[in-house]
Amino acid sequence: MRIVIAGLGLALLSACGQQEPPPPEPSAAAIEAGLPAPGTATAFTKQANADLAARLDLSLGSDGEDARRDRLAFIEDEAILNADGELVWSIPQFDFLDGDAPETVNPSLWRQSQLAAHHGLFKVSEGIYQVRGYDLSVMSVIEGDTGWILVDPLTATETAAASLKLVNDTLGERPVTGVLYTHSHADHFGGARGVISDEDVAAGVSVLAPIGFSENAVSENLIAGNQMSRRATLMFGNTLPRGVSTHVGSGLGPGLPNGTVSLLLPTEEIEGRGTVRVIDGVTFEFIDAAGTEAPAEFMFYLPEKRALCTAEVATATFHNVLTPRGAKVRDALKWSRVIDYVLAEYGERSDVVFASHHWPTWGQENVVDFLASQRDIYRYVHDQTLRNANAGATMVEAAEAVEEPAFQGADFTTRGYYGTLNHNAKAVYQHYFGWWGGVPAEYNRLPHEVTAARYVEAMGETERVLDIGRTAFESGDYRWAAEVFNHLVFAEPDNQEGRDWLSATYEQPGFQAESGAWRSYYLTGAAELRRGVPNVGDPNLGNADFLKVVPSLDLFDALAARYNPAKMKRDPFAIVFEFPDRDETISLLVETSVIVPRLGAIENAAATVTINRSDFDRLILREAAPLALVTSGRMKIDGKRSAVSAMFDSLDQPDFWFNTVTP
Ligand SMILES: [Zn+2]
Repeated sequence: MRIVIAGLGLALLSACGQQEPPPPEPSAAAIEAGLPAPGTATAFTKQANADLAARLDLSLGSDGEDARRDRLAFIEDEAILNADGELVWSIPQFDFLDGDAPETVNPSLWRQSQLAAHHGLFKVSEGIYQVRGYDLSVMSVIEGDTGWILVDPLTATETAAASLKLVNDTLGERPVTGVLYTHSHADHFGGARGVISDEDVAAGVSVLAPIGFSENAVSENLIAGNQMSRRATLMFGNTLPRGVSTHVGSGLGPGLPNGTVSLLLPTEEIEGRGTVRVIDGVTFEFIDAAGTEAPAEFMFYLPEKRALCTAEVATATFHNVLTPRGAKVRDALKWSRVIDYVLAEYGERSDVVFASHHWPTWGQENVVDFLASQRDIYRYVHDQTLRNANAGATMVEAAEAVEEPAFQGADFTTRGYYGTLNHNAKAVYQHYFGWWGGVPAEYNRLPHEVTAARYVEAMGETERVLDIGRTAFESGDYRWAAEVFNHLVFAEPDNQEGRDWLSATYEQPGFQAESGAWRSYYLTGAAELRRGVPNVGDPNLGNADFLKVVPSLDLFDALAARYNPAKMKRDPFAIVFEFPDRDETISLLVETSVIVPRLGAIENAAATVTINRSDFDRLILREAAPLALVTSGRMKIDGKRSAVSAMFDSLDQPDFWFNTVTP
């Protein structure tokens, strides 16, 4: 019996930080035609960056003081390593972020990256500390009566453990007496096993998370994980080196660590506004923020300390209403309303506001200003997109029409270092109207691989297309140049000259982008055009921590979403799965075109598979072989084994490193 069970697409947003060999030289024809050397800013890019620098006051100012304030210690080692001695986080990797912005970096993003890269243990206020600069996110540390209460233990167990060690070494060794996950994104819980264990939890350490956390921590990565994680490699620039013509920071934080992502389930999920819990003598007042930045999220207020934690709802950037890696679209209006609630309820009572990314804001008036600006940017993009859409704008038109509001020039925490006005306006449009702009010609478009060749033909064949593209490039019209060269690359993917020009074209908006996500997306795209998709092996496909949280029916839904009907040669049949350790029975109706999972048994099944869910998870994670499980009696198949094989053999296993910038 041969059963193919492979990774589930539970790929996480880490790993694959290995760097690539240098790409090949551009083609002689492109160099002959004036292609700039890779990594060079054109005169238009220099001008655009200089114009922004002239328009904004980019001195570090009070943000610089806040980002540096009260640093108590920092990690003096060269790097944070994993148990095998492999690099998880290099400490000096962002040391190049010094001085004025180079020509190849948007000066506002350069400033933000400098601020976000300050690393160490910082004091926030009496009994509140933060470890910043060793991960994409920030770990906050609150002093309880007997130990540390950790808020958001980073993305990776290694960075979390190193951060906790820094705390203990500096402030004195204390046990961890509580852990909070503010929301269901992996950069806020992935490092949990680096700071606490199952034994700690069994001994009474409470782990609190917002309502819906467990479900959403995994579901976002499960069914859609392969596409999402592949896109994340572009958005976070994981495969790019750090440097002035490559990755300088993600806008949300320095970057993703290349470490181990764990999931230790919460002991309690908190619901509602004003819900109070006392942890190790510290009073926490929780504010539910579900459906804003994450499907499950809370903020909290510490009344004894007059401190507000805004989690990732309000940080020092305009966030994503729809993240470029892909996720369900978020609700900008609800986001704005929740911030306004917190402002009205806690603004007057807070001397400091801190979050799970970036540095805190001190001073009661500054707290109010910060929250007001954050509230306004989400409402602004929401209301202005709708104003334009209701006047007849399509999605692209609406996004073009939403101009930078005056307050973005004054309060940099609202600037688009991560989300942008452009793509967030498109997200608002999508939230209300879907992907279609209402023009019939765009409703049933041909796929780009078909139209690309026709565009090239209509423009007058390859040489002419190169001419048109180069003319656009030379006049600094990179958006049009990208469209033209992109047609050529999709029509003729092996045309090296076309690829070189498209790559050069992607670099310039990358160098101009204020959003770290846009910069990484463009520059990784440019790199992939030059050297092909990365050849760094598959990323971490998840682990038992994650899989065991997934309800069995959802697990089968994820398998069903890989069903390739062309591979199924049998008439419809059913398989029953018995999971004795969960006392669960699930039937799979294997139809001609779909697989339908259903709770409960079904009569006349072709086969019944009896296996503990824990062993089934190991099978899916490729930690156990089907034959070994059968031989050892851990998996029993009654009925037609060939039906079980046929079902698993009909599931596609997607490649992780699929093409994005070529067909
Ligand atoms: Zn985060």
